[in-house]
Amino acid sequence: MIDITLPDGSVKTFENGVTPMDVAKDISEGLARNVISAKFNDTIVETVTPLEENGDLVLYTWNDDEGKKAFWHSSSHVVAQAIEELYPGVKLTIGPAIENGFYYDIDFGDHSISEKDFPKIEKRAMEIARGKHPYKMREVSKKDALNYYQKQGNEYKVELISALEDGTITFCDHDSFTDLCRGGHIPNTGYIKALKLLSVAGAYWRGDENNPQLTRVYGISFPKQKELTEYLELLEEAKKRDHRKLGRELELFTFSQKVGQGLPLWLPKGAALRDRLEQFLKKAQKKAGYEMVISPHIGQKELYVTSGHYAKYGEDSFQPIHTPKEDEEFLLKPMNCPHHCEIYNAKPFSYRELPKRYAEFGTVYRYEQSGELHGLTRVRGFTQDDAHIFCTQDQLDQEFKNVIDLSLYVLGSLGFENFTAQVSVRDLDKPEKYIGSVDNWEKAEQAIINAAEEKGLKYSVVPGEAAFYGPKLDFMVKDALGRNWQLGTIQVDYNLPERFDLTYKGSDNELHRPVMIHRAPFGSMERFVALLLEHSGGNFPLWLTPEQAIVLPVSEKHEKYAEKVLKSLENHEIRALVDDRNETVGKKIREAEMSKIPFMLIVGDSEEAEGTLSVRRHGGEDLGAISPERFADLVQKEINSTLKSF
Ligand SMILES: [Zn+2]
Ligand SMILES: [Zn+2]
Repeated sequence: MIDITLPDGSVKTFENGVTPMDVAKDISEGLARNVISAKFNDTIVETVTPLEENGDLVLYTWNDDEGKKAFWHSSSHVVAQAIEELYPGVKLTIGPAIENGFYYDIDFGDHSISEKDFPKIEKRAMEIARGKHPYKMREVSKKDALNYYQKQGNEYKVELISALEDGTITFCDHDSFTDLCRGGHIPNTGYIKALKLLSVAGAYWRGDENNPQLTRVYGISFPKQKELTEYLELLEEAKKRDHRKLGRELELFTFSQKVGQGLPLWLPKGAALRDRLEQFLKKAQKKAGYEMVISPHIGQKELYVTSGHYAKYGEDSFQPIHTPKEDEEFLLKPMNCPHHCEIYNAKPFSYRELPKRYAEFGTVYRYEQSGELHGLTRVRGFTQDDAHIFCTQDQLDQEFKNVIDLSLYVLGSLGFENFTAQVSVRDLDKPEKYIGSVDNWEKAEQAIINAAEEKGLKYSVVPGEAAFYGPKLDFMVKDALGRNWQLGTIQVDYNLPERFDLTYKGSDNELHRPVMIHRAPFGSMERFVALLLEHSGGNFPLWLTPEQAIVLPVSEKHEKYAEKVLKSLENHEIRALVDDRNETVGKKIREAEMSKIPFMLIVGDSEEAEGTLSVRRHGGEDLGAISPERFADLVQKEINSTLKSF
């Protein structure tokens, strides 16, 4: 008999050789129907794997990430089988699950495929799925495994197997299909009720451009047809909200091949919007005791060798800038922190003067691979809403709370409600990985958890995710489509104060090391604007949006009155413009809707006679005719409801 411990801590005794599925059945028939994957003693197993020792068992359903992973990986086998049948001679490589679905990298040889071929592959894949073929794992000797793929002439699998140790190699069979696989499958193909291929792309074998190019086929699958339909709808909506598309339509930013890939150019409306974001944060930061500093875009290579950033970014990023002077090298700054450390070092501080909080909208440069670039979310030059707090260990607790307050204020003012926090702490089994005293780490981790607790954050603690130099808290935001984005971060650092020999004079008259906190509530201006666009679909909060109102004269003879209304709005600090084109009001309204302008103010004969404007809200709601002053009040009230003072 063996003892199986379940996640709730309960222990059940079973006969040796019991399977995860048997355990599920023992718990309830309902659970057994839903179990699709399992983990035993920290190893992913099949639902039919016999368990032969005491241990911890976790059963996964579709609702668990691990369950989805097994589901999607299993689906990749089915798609691979369909493709192998339809395109004889193709060479399979790897087919993992990804965040949404799966892919399979395949060498198509003389064949080629495009999206037009998807329906026939999907059709065959679903036929296979309906066959309810069980996934069966078997051990294979290294010799037999190599032999199997050498016979097929599949050099990719041969390469993979060559790197594996004999005795650890397994194949997975289902129906007439066999694949090299570590395991982690759903019970049988019949669980797949809906499957769709999404795209094809080129991908180098092992991600190395010196290797042959393969075809990556992306797909997704679901246990219910309805879920696929919903997913495809979401995908459509995501396309509409793609920040690259909206950024173009709303004239916020652009890219130029001449300027260079991954280097965004902010257009006037985008620059103004970004400036409003910066002013908003500056104002709150000032109240929170931050001081603005400014540092150059480059620094001597030595600076980054001292900070350790050269070791991290040097080789793989922009290469040093040389000057006429021999041996003189500068780097584009990949981080603002080293500069801020030197600002701290500009004069000695006593404990009474701490904390020092230095803030800068600092632009940094990192060389991202061209394949990784994506709109404003992955760029080669971006501006962090950066700040570094230098404080004593005793002040850490309070400072962390203050930063959380500021971050919550920022998120709230921008309409984010659905956010969580992730607290990254040490891996206690690997103390050698971390710099700084255990005592300080314990205090810092506790300070972060206390702060998260006290501020009522929904948070999770993830061991082993801390950087070597300190624990951190990341804000994660779910956007309107339920996608997770990592936003601002608050990071404790024991490393840079050492490297830059930062000190303060304590009450004992001795020199001590301050602790450093890095924080950026937006993350970066670029990434944040991208997220705002995708979250709001381009409907920004009223205080931030490029134009708050557009005045639409019904005909040419109302233009003068429209100009007068505009002046009056401007006097009330409302950002507005007049559409005086010789077009129908209907067309002007449609276009203002497209531009996502929150208020359309229609002025014709009666409005002019009564000194009013007819207010139509974006989306169609009619608020009737009111005076410009009352409209200004309405705007102010609405702004005040989201933008509270800090
Ligand atoms: Zn597999
Ligand atoms: Zn920093």
